Amino acid sequence: MADGYDDSNRAFLQAFMGRSSMTFEEAQPVLAAIFTAQKEENVDPNDVTQEHLSSYIDAANTAISPFDLEIRSLLHQTPKQADQENNDSPPTRVYALVNTTCDPLTQLATTYSADEIAFVKRLLDFMFDTNNTRICEGMVITPMQSLNLRSSAEANRRRSTNATQQTQGGATQSLTITQAENMMKHLVEEGWLEKSRKDFFSLTPRALMELRGWLISEYNDEMESGRRMNRIKFCSACKDLITVGQRCEDRDCLGRLHDHCMRSFFRMQRAEQCPVCKKDWPGDKFVGERAVTSASRRQTNARQAPAPAAPNGDASSSEDASGEEEEG
Ligand SMILES: [Zn+2]
Ligand SMILES: [Zn+2]
Repeated sequence: MADGYDDSNRAFLQAFMGRSSMTFEEAQPVLAAIFTAQKEENVDPNDVTQEHLSSYIDAANTAISPFDLEIRSLLHQTPKQADQENNDSPPTRVYALVNTTCDPLTQLATTYSADEIAFVKRLLDFMFDTNNTRICEGMVITPMQSLNLRSSAEANRRRSTNATQQTQGGATQSLTITQAENMMKHLVEEGWLEKSRKDFFSLTPRALMELRGWLISEYNDEMESGRRMNRIKFCSACKDLITVGQRCEDRDCLGRLHDHCMRSFFRMQRAEQCPVCKKDWPGDKFVGERAVTSASRRQTNARQAPAPAAPNGDASSSEDASGEEEEG
């Protein structure tokens, strides 16, 4: 081990492994406690700097890389709950311990049964396929929708016609409602999913870091053959994947921007134009939960007017609205 890797580094790594992810604010008291023990004098959490954290993360990464683990970080795509009204609050950086080689579904196999993992796969299929269409890039799931996925037969009935062909492990058993509810609870507790104030589940930054490569290989078609689209999109500013943000008005354009990337991007560009096609940026075309909530608002408003042609008659329940419009 490199010089200078001591008990304080070991304690930090231990603390990190005990939780799924950490922000700088969460790391401050952890490092303060470690410094206090080491120096035998009281260290205030506010005296712990970003530089302290960075140096402990660097040391930890050197120590854990032989085990295919790495602490990575990602800016949270949505502001903290308390700051959600204030669009100018800076995004929070989230650090997470990520397995760099292991397939995420294989990782889950150490904790969950095959039936539970198949349920997780159906959740991801729903979020990134069924509820991620040309019309509405929701990439979220409601508690009710998640319970509907507890059996694979039910899930298949609800899948969009151009869905990926194969659900993992066709022979798996259904979960009971209670089992499915418990799974959702565990996935939140373990830092894979988070629930918004409006009751939508989405992937956490930790999950996005852990699942990044897998999501791209699972839901994007490198050949772009046939009618299948690349479900996982990227922010034109930071180039990382985007599940919350804004999109270009042109449905065939790949222009997407995170909320926190948009401001500085437009300031630099000196014009609010799509980074890809240069059309005016609409500002009200969303990626993520707001794509679903604004779509259902539009649908409510359109009830009186002649409805746009829907592919099938049962698309009117708001529960299913997001996924059913693709062919329209
Ligand atoms: Zn971005
Ligand atoms: Zn565009």
